[in-house]
Amino acid sequence: MDQIKIGEFISKKRKEKKITQSELAEKLMISDRAVSKWENGICLPDAANMQELCNILGITINDLFSGEVVDMKDNEKKLEENLLEMTKLKEQRDKELLTLEIFIGIIVSIIMFACIFVASFADMKDWLRVVLIIIGIIPFAIGISYAIRIEQIAGYYECPNCHNKYVPTYKTVLFAQHVNRTRKMKCPKCGKKSWNKKVIH
Ligand SMILES: [Zn+2]
Repeated sequence: MDQIKIGEFISKKRKEKKITQSELAEKLMISDRAVSKWENGICLPDAANMQELCNILGITINDLFSGEVVDMKDNEKKLEENLLEMTKLKEQRDKELLTLEIFIGIIVSIIMFACIFVASFADMKDWLRVVLIIIGIIPFAIGISYAIRIEQIAGYYECPNCHNKYVPTYKTVLFAQHVNRTRKMKCPKCGKKSWNKKVIH
Protein backbone atom coordinates (compact mmCIF):
# COMPACT_ATOMS: atom_id res chain seq x y z
CA MET A 1 0.00 0.00 0.00
CA ASP A 2 1.49 3.28 -1.12
CA GLN A 3 0.78 5.88 1.57
CA ILE A 4 2.20 8.74 -0.51
CA LYS A 5 -0.01 7.85 -3.44
CA ILE A 6 -3.04 7.49 -1.16
CA GLY A 7 -2.26 10.86 0.43
CA GLU A 8 -2.00 12.60 -2.93
CA PHE A 9 -5.23 10.96 -4.00
CA ILE A 10 -7.09 12.18 -0.89
CA SER A 11 -5.71 15.68 -1.47
CA LYS A 12 -6.72 15.64 -5.16
CA LYS A 13 -10.25 14.39 -4.43
CA ARG A 14 -10.67 16.90 -1.62
CA LYS A 15 -9.69 19.78 -3.93
CA GLU A 16 -12.06 18.49 -6.61
CA LYS A 17 -14.84 18.71 -4.03
CA LYS A 18 -13.63 22.25 -3.23
CA ILE A 19 -13.24 21.66 0.48
CA THR A 20 -10.31 22.75 2.62
CA GLN A 21 -8.36 20.47 4.96
CA SER A 22 -10.03 22.06 7.96
CA GLU A 23 -13.51 21.69 6.46
CA LEU A 24 -12.82 18.03 5.84
CA ALA A 25 -11.46 17.64 9.37
CA GLU A 26 -14.56 19.32 10.76
CA LYS A 27 -16.89 17.01 8.83
CA LEU A 28 -15.02 13.99 10.22
CA MET A 29 -14.75 15.53 13.69
CA ILE A 30 -10.98 15.12 13.75
CA SER A 31 -8.05 17.55 13.83
CA ASP A 32 -6.67 19.42 10.79
CA ARG A 33 -3.33 17.83 11.58
CA ALA A 34 -4.74 14.34 11.00
CA VAL A 35 -5.94 15.30 7.51
CA SER A 36 -2.60 16.91 6.75
CA LYS A 37 -0.80 13.74 7.90
CA TRP A 38 -2.86 11.57 5.55
CA GLU A 39 -2.28 13.90 2.62
CA ASN A 40 1.46 13.96 3.24
CA GLY A 41 1.53 10.17 3.32
CA ILE A 42 2.62 10.02 6.96
CA CYS A 43 -0.24 7.78 8.02
CA LEU A 44 -3.46 6.23 6.79
CA PRO A 45 -6.95 7.23 7.96
CA ASP A 46 -8.28 5.21 10.91
CA ALA A 47 -10.75 2.46 10.14
CA ALA A 48 -13.34 4.50 12.08
CA ASN A 49 -13.09 7.44 9.62
CA MET A 50 -12.63 5.57 6.37
CA GLN A 51 -16.22 5.06 5.32
CA GLU A 52 -17.22 8.63 6.07
CA LEU A 53 -14.12 9.98 4.32
CA CYS A 54 -14.95 7.94 1.21
CA ASN A 55 -18.54 9.20 1.27
CA ILE A 56 -17.40 12.81 1.44
CA LEU A 57 -14.84 12.36 -1.34
CA GLY A 58 -17.22 10.29 -3.45
CA ILE A 59 -14.89 7.29 -3.73
CA THR A 60 -14.94 3.64 -2.63
CA ILE A 61 -12.74 2.11 0.08
CA ASN A 62 -11.06 0.16 -2.68
CA ASP A 63 -10.26 3.42 -4.53
CA LEU A 64 -8.85 4.85 -1.30
CA PHE A 65 -6.46 1.95 -0.71
CA SER A 66 -5.44 1.89 -4.35
CA GLY A 67 -4.76 5.62 -4.36
CA GLU A 68 -6.77 6.02 -7.57
CA VAL A 69 -10.25 5.52 -8.94
CA VAL A 70 -10.32 1.82 -9.73
CA ASP A 71 -11.67 0.81 -13.11
CA MET A 72 -14.68 -1.50 -12.79
CA LYS A 73 -12.93 -4.26 -14.74
CA ASP A 74 -9.93 -4.16 -12.38
CA ASN A 75 -12.09 -3.80 -9.30
CA GLU A 76 -11.95 -7.38 -8.10
CA LYS A 77 -8.23 -7.75 -8.71
CA LYS A 78 -7.47 -4.51 -6.88
CA LEU A 79 -9.76 -5.51 -4.04
CA GLU A 80 -7.87 -8.78 -3.64
CA GLU A 81 -4.52 -7.00 -3.71
CA ASN A 82 -5.67 -4.53 -1.10
CA LEU A 83 -7.08 -7.25 1.15
CA LEU A 84 -3.84 -9.16 0.92
CA GLU A 85 -1.90 -6.04 1.76
CA MET A 86 -4.14 -5.34 4.76
CA THR A 87 -3.68 -8.90 6.00
CA LYS A 88 0.08 -8.47 5.75
CA LEU A 89 -0.09 -5.21 7.66
CA LYS A 90 -2.15 -6.84 10.42
CA GLU A 91 0.26 -9.76 10.65
CA GLN A 92 3.18 -7.37 10.88
CA ARG A 93 1.46 -5.37 13.62
CA ASP A 94 0.52 -8.55 15.51
CA LYS A 95 4.14 -9.73 15.45
CA GLU A 96 5.29 -6.39 16.79
CA LEU A 97 2.67 -6.51 19.51
CA LEU A 98 3.76 -9.98 20.61
CA THR A 99 7.37 -8.80 20.80
CA LEU A 100 6.17 -5.89 22.91
CA GLU A 101 4.37 -8.37 25.18
CA ILE A 102 7.64 -10.19 25.91
CA PHE A 103 9.43 -6.89 26.48
CA ILE A 104 6.80 -5.67 28.95
CA GLY A 105 6.87 -9.03 30.75
CA ILE A 106 10.65 -8.92 31.16
CA ILE A 107 10.80 -5.29 32.32
CA VAL A 108 8.09 -5.60 34.97
CA SER A 109 9.53 -8.92 36.19
CA ILE A 110 12.98 -7.33 36.62
CA ILE A 111 11.47 -4.41 38.54
CA MET A 112 9.51 -6.74 40.82
CA PHE A 113 12.39 -9.13 41.52
CA ALA A 114 14.78 -6.24 42.13
CA CYS A 115 12.38 -4.74 44.68
CA ILE A 116 11.80 -8.07 46.39
CA PHE A 117 15.53 -8.80 46.42
CA VAL A 118 16.39 -5.47 48.02
CA ALA A 119 13.50 -5.78 50.47
CA SER A 120 14.71 -9.24 51.51
CA PHE A 121 18.40 -8.59 51.94
CA ALA A 122 19.04 -4.89 52.50
CA ASP A 123 19.19 -3.47 55.96
CA MET A 124 16.03 -1.38 56.39
CA LYS A 125 12.93 -0.93 58.50
CA ASP A 126 10.18 -3.51 58.07
CA TRP A 127 7.55 -1.05 56.86
CA LEU A 128 9.99 0.07 54.17
CA ARG A 129 10.36 -3.54 53.03
CA VAL A 130 6.58 -3.80 52.65
CA VAL A 131 6.42 -0.52 50.72
CA LEU A 132 9.23 -1.68 48.43
CA ILE A 133 7.50 -4.98 47.69
CA ILE A 134 4.27 -3.14 46.89
CA ILE A 135 6.17 -0.76 44.60
CA GLY A 136 7.51 -3.82 42.76
CA ILE A 137 4.17 -5.58 42.50
CA ILE A 138 2.11 -2.67 41.14
CA PRO A 139 3.92 -2.30 37.77
CA PHE A 140 4.05 -6.10 37.54
CA ALA A 141 0.27 -6.41 37.94
CA ILE A 142 -0.41 -3.58 35.45
CA GLY A 143 2.22 -4.81 32.99
CA ILE A 144 1.02 -8.39 33.03
CA SER A 145 -2.64 -7.48 32.54
CA TYR A 146 -1.59 -5.29 29.61
CA ALA A 147 0.56 -8.10 28.20
CA ILE A 148 -2.36 -10.52 28.41
CA ARG A 149 -4.54 -7.98 26.62
CA ILE A 150 -1.94 -7.86 23.82
CA GLU A 151 -1.85 -11.62 23.64
CA GLN A 152 -5.63 -11.76 23.43
CA ILE A 153 -5.99 -9.36 20.48
CA ALA A 154 -2.83 -10.10 18.45
CA GLY A 155 -3.31 -12.95 15.98
CA TYR A 156 -5.59 -15.91 16.78
CA TYR A 157 -5.75 -19.09 18.81
CA GLU A 158 -6.08 -22.27 16.78
CA CYS A 159 -8.13 -25.26 17.92
CA PRO A 160 -6.13 -28.49 17.25
CA ASN A 161 -9.37 -30.48 16.73
CA CYS A 162 -11.28 -28.50 14.13
CA HIS A 163 -8.55 -25.95 13.20
CA ASN A 164 -10.92 -23.11 13.93
CA LYS A 165 -9.06 -19.83 14.52
CA TYR A 166 -10.59 -17.40 16.97
CA VAL A 167 -10.06 -14.47 19.32
CA PRO A 168 -11.24 -15.38 22.82
CA THR A 169 -12.45 -12.90 25.44
CA TYR A 170 -9.96 -11.27 27.81
CA LYS A 171 -11.41 -13.16 30.76
CA THR A 172 -11.00 -16.51 29.00
CA VAL A 173 -7.35 -15.77 28.21
CA LEU A 174 -6.69 -14.45 31.71
CA PHE A 175 -7.98 -17.53 33.51
CA ALA A 176 -6.84 -20.18 31.02
CA GLN A 177 -4.09 -22.55 32.09
CA HIS A 178 -1.10 -21.87 29.87
CA VAL A 179 2.39 -22.87 28.79
CA ASN A 180 3.95 -19.81 27.15
CA ARG A 181 1.30 -18.67 24.68
CA THR A 182 -0.45 -22.00 24.31
CA ARG A 183 -3.60 -21.94 26.40
CA LYS A 184 -6.09 -24.57 27.47
CA MET A 185 -9.42 -23.22 26.28
CA LYS A 186 -12.76 -24.35 24.97
CA CYS A 187 -13.09 -23.90 21.21
CA PRO A 188 -16.19 -21.82 20.41
CA LYS A 189 -16.82 -23.88 17.25
CA CYS A 190 -16.45 -27.54 18.24
CA GLY A 191 -16.75 -27.00 22.00
CA LYS A 192 -13.77 -29.24 22.84
CA LYS A 193 -11.41 -28.11 25.56
CA SER A 194 -7.80 -28.48 24.51
CA TRP A 195 -4.43 -26.71 24.19
CA ASN A 196 -4.86 -23.90 21.66
CA LYS A 197 -1.76 -22.48 20.02
CA LYS A 198 -1.24 -18.82 19.19
CA VAL A 199 -1.03 -18.26 15.44
CA ILE A 200 -0.42 -15.09 13.43
CA HIS A 201 -1.68 -16.15 10.01
ZN1 LIG B 1 -12.52 -26.70 17.67
